[in-house]
Amino acid sequence: MLQKKQERTTNPPFLDLAEFELEELEDTLESHGTKRFHARQVYRWIYHRGITDPLQMTDLSKSLRELLHSEFRITTPHVETESSSRDGTRKFLIKLGDNQHIEAVFIPDTPAMTFCISTQVGCAMACGFCLTGKMGLARNLTAGEIVGQVRLLATKTKLLNRSFNIVLMGMGEPLHNYDATMKALRILHSKHGLAISPRRITLSTVGIVPGLKRLLDEPLMPNLAISLHATTDAQRTKLIPPGRKYSLSDILEVCRQFPLTKRNRITFEYVLLAGVNDTAEDAYRLVQLLSGIKAKVNLIPLNPAPGIPFNRPSDLSINQFAKILAKRHLTISVRKSRGQDINAACGQLIVEGDPKKSAGQKISSLMQ
Ligand code: SF4
Repeated sequence: MLQKKQERTTNPPFLDLAEFELEELEDTLESHGTKRFHARQVYRWIYHRGITDPLQMTDLSKSLRELLHSEFRITTPHVETESSSRDGTRKFLIKLGDNQHIEAVFIPDTPAMTFCISTQVGCAMACGFCLTGKMGLARNLTAGEIVGQVRLLATKTKLLNRSFNIVLMGMGEPLHNYDATMKALRILHSKHGLAISPRRITLSTVGIVPGLKRLLDEPLMPNLAISLHATTDAQRTKLIPPGRKYSLSDILEVCRQFPLTKRNRITFEYVLLAGVNDTAEDAYRLVQLLSGIKAKVNLIPLNPAPGIPFNRPSDLSINQFAKILAKRHLTISVRKSRGQDINAACGQLIVEGDPKKSAGQKISSLMQ
């Protein structure tokens, strides 16, 4: 028994059930000589009840519980610290199995509760206005780690069997970790698991064109938010250096192909940077670029931060920019600051130091 325990802690080849889609779990259990339907029971324990110790799965036979306990594991990322904002926003510093850190944020907007989760440790996109971009990419998250953030937050906020929205706007570029992200969405969607509709999930991307094209063929299509942030390719390349690979016209061409009958609008995120992309000319160009697309524009006035070489525009500039879009009948919103007092913000998360050696390091984040 002692020897078995030591193997569980020192020997990592245990299959992790948190990484399995339902069908994979059915196949695996069948290959271990058990009935496929037990996979649905296990899913219910993990996703409906938040139980990850197989020995507590009391509607399984004793022999199956022991099999799951001895042959598998169900990994859940671990909350290292939590901070709460005056406005109800809660930020979670999450430690992964290899001691890397990510952040996830709960935003309790009424009526929609929203979880903002990460898809990578760090990010390779290096957007000039984002602290996560300064980290570089440490590694991709697995599907189980992406879903694990949702399980954690749902448990922490007591929303396990209630509805909530998910935005993939934390650390990372989801389409740069395409397979794991889409697998995570399938696990989240399983009716025997959390049964989350893709309409409740928003994937935010800088516009990786091959990824967008793959997305077009996905049976499970989340809402799409494109981080546009510029109205000319030259301007955009400065803000999102890897963006030079894909022109604005290429990105918008794919956007035009999205089946918008199934979805309301594509959201275009536009971070407003004083003197960089906030002029009236930019606003008029933005209107032109988006013509013919069922679009909603989310204007995000930057909050200045140490290490970010940009400033927030004046309220007057923000209003003038917004008015030009609104007069041309674009649906717009101006993002409010949430959780400012706890430094919690989508896409503005950073591991201090070298993320590739980030064991035990702190993550901080900036609010916009
Ligand atoms: S804004 Fe998003 S895509 Fe750009 S560096 Fe930050 S996390 Fe990556």
